[in-house]
Amino acid sequence: MPARSFAAEAVVLDTQDHGEADLIVTFLGLERGRMTGIAKGAKRSKRRFVNKLEIFSFLHLTCSESSASSLLFIHEAELHSSFLRLRTDPALYLTASVIREVLLLAIREGERDEDIFRLALWALHGLDEGRPALPLLALFLLKFYSGIGYRPELQVCMACGQVVAPAREFTFSHLGGGLICPACTAASGGTGTILSPGTIRIMQSAQELPLDKLHRLVLSGPMLDQCLSALHQYGRHLFQRDIHAWSLLEPHGRRRRATAADQR
Ligand SMILES: [Zn+2]
Repeated sequence: MPARSFAAEAVVLDTQDHGEADLIVTFLGLERGRMTGIAKGAKRSKRRFVNKLEIFSFLHLTCSESSASSLLFIHEAELHSSFLRLRTDPALYLTASVIREVLLLAIREGERDEDIFRLALWALHGLDEGRPALPLLALFLLKFYSGIGYRPELQVCMACGQVVAPAREFTFSHLGGGLICPACTAASGGTGTILSPGTIRIMQSAQELPLDKLHRLVLSGPMLDQCLSALHQYGRHLFQRDIHAWSLLEPHGRRRRATAADQR
């Protein structure tokens, strides 16, 4: 089969040297989801690819594919945005790195998902525009887990089905991925992050709001800490491993390690 040429909108998630001249690049694409391609001569041909095949860059690609290789061939890349600001601010860069890491962990090749692509772009644009990084990360993860089929249950107790009461603390179970009422928490000796009523309300709103309205939600102080702790631990459980970039992120913000008071 002859090589078939096509265009794609994509964000660079990873790059890897290949031999002396080539670069293997992993993208999250609008039309095809995750994809991997080779840019022949990318390390030599400064003219074609310079400053483009960088992690986080949002590109318009011209590629081709052939039945002889599982790799796409990347012929050209035009820059939509390099998200310059998040390359120059360590806290923003590390937040974007957590987002990149969970995308790489959760998204397989051949799974086209426009919503995930738009969510990733929303997050990168938001960081680049100077939105507060950690609240943005929390909102991203809430939407992301839903997008990959693990929507946190925030409406009813996962054990007894009781509707979440607006004035009570509930425990977010990292193993179950949802709220457990106080009675069921006590009965089961369950563990998790305790969420205040205010935190639960903001997280519920975040699940319902479309991306363009998400920035209206104000997450800060203890509510932000609770939300991030719950989503971080839930992610570790989902992926069955640490999210490495998170451990680098923490010294840049206030330390958010779960305290004894936060955990049951
Ligand atoms: Zn219950």
